[in-house]
Amino acid sequence: MKKGLLIVYSGVSGVGKGTILNELMPMEDLNLAYSVSMTTRQPREGEVDGVNYFFVDKKRFLEAVKNGELLEHARFVGNDYGTPKEYVEKMREQGKNVILEIEIRGAKQVLEKCPDALSIYIVPPSIEELERRLRERSSEDEETIMKRISKAKKEMKEMGFYEHVVCNDDLQKTIQEVRQIILDEMNSKD
Ligand code: 5GP
Repeated sequence: MKKGLLIVYSGVSGVGKGTILNELMPMEDLNLAYSVSMTTRQPREGEVDGVNYFFVDKKRFLEAVKNGELLEHARFVGNDYGTPKEYVEKMREQGKNVILEIEIRGAKQVLEKCPDALSIYIVPPSIEELERRLRERSSEDEETIMKRISKAKKEMKEMGFYEHVVCNDDLQKTIQEVRQIILDEMNSKD
């Protein structure tokens, strides 16, 4: 069986990447598997352990790093995040296209290890629009929102290494665009 793609999928907080992904995941022809990350962040309301993230304490996270269980890991706004390696490999072996929704430093690590990974970065139409969306979501306090915005500005200066940069100015259009990027990559590997 043909090995599945590894897709590195990033974008600043609040850009809508989760919403886009929720639409893409059920599309059968994309044959996607979502890689659930490990994090030391507290669950937000409605988040489920093992579905959105594996929520762990710092001790367990450090153990995973030490044991080489993670494909990549990074700190983001005070918390640790990492991709469990085993699931990614297992799914790719089964022909699934595995999608990693991760931040930019983790993405760099993955692309260094797996240069043939497909990389996609979603940008907002503007920083003002991003700030509005983050406040609308309002799951975080003001300090965290400001930290996420400052992080976003920094990140967007460094996103040049992604193969595809897609602007989310219209949700339906963006979904179709990302879908097409994945389909094209699948076809090119046939
Ligand atoms: P959030 O706290 O909003 O769920 O995620 C914060 C950031 O961490 C997002 O940019 C998200 O894509 C990223 N992230 C989630 N999981 C991982 C991971 O396993 N590794 C890395 N490097 N970043 C991650």
